[in-house]
Amino acid sequence: MNYHKYIDIDVINGRGTRCTLFVAGCEHKCPGCYNKSTWRAHSGHPFTEQIVEQIIHDLKDTRIKRRGLSLSGGDPLFPSNCPAIYSLCKAVKKACPDKDIWLWTGYMLEKLNQTQREILKHIDVLVDGPFKQELADAALEFRGSSNQRILEAPFG
Ligand code: SF4
Repeated sequence: MNYHKYIDIDVINGRGTRCTLFVAGCEHKCPGCYNKSTWRAHSGHPFTEQIVEQIIHDLKDTRIKRRGLSLSGGDPLFPSNCPAIYSLCKAVKKACPDKDIWLWTGYMLEKLNQTQREILKHIDVLVDGPFKQELADAALEFRGSSNQRILEAPFG
């Protein structure tokens, strides 16, 4: 997996103060996408064990308390991202069980395959669905268009 950006203190993507990772790779090609540069899976930088350690270190920081980790992109559930995202979520939940994980995907919950569903077992909030320009609404919290849903675990 590659990633584009890691923000160690973020108050925009999800509730509370968070760490946010934007990964590379997305096949949805939504018209009006705000992050086209992330579509190619090989764009950005290699996601290494060092970044995992940095994220866990930041989540454990007691000076600036983070509520959790946000995973966006690109699409964290892009098929070739799934192994690294699965390992990351498991590692974060093991090291920081009190932190929540939010994940944004262009797939609909109902269309996720078994590999993608395994990741859901280790996250708390899923924001699902493609961005639809005709349903775009800047007043929406944590999503770009009204078809997208903010779903909380358990996901069923
Ligand atoms: S799912 Fe997100 S990153 Fe992918 S094309 Fe749609 S808006 Fe862009």
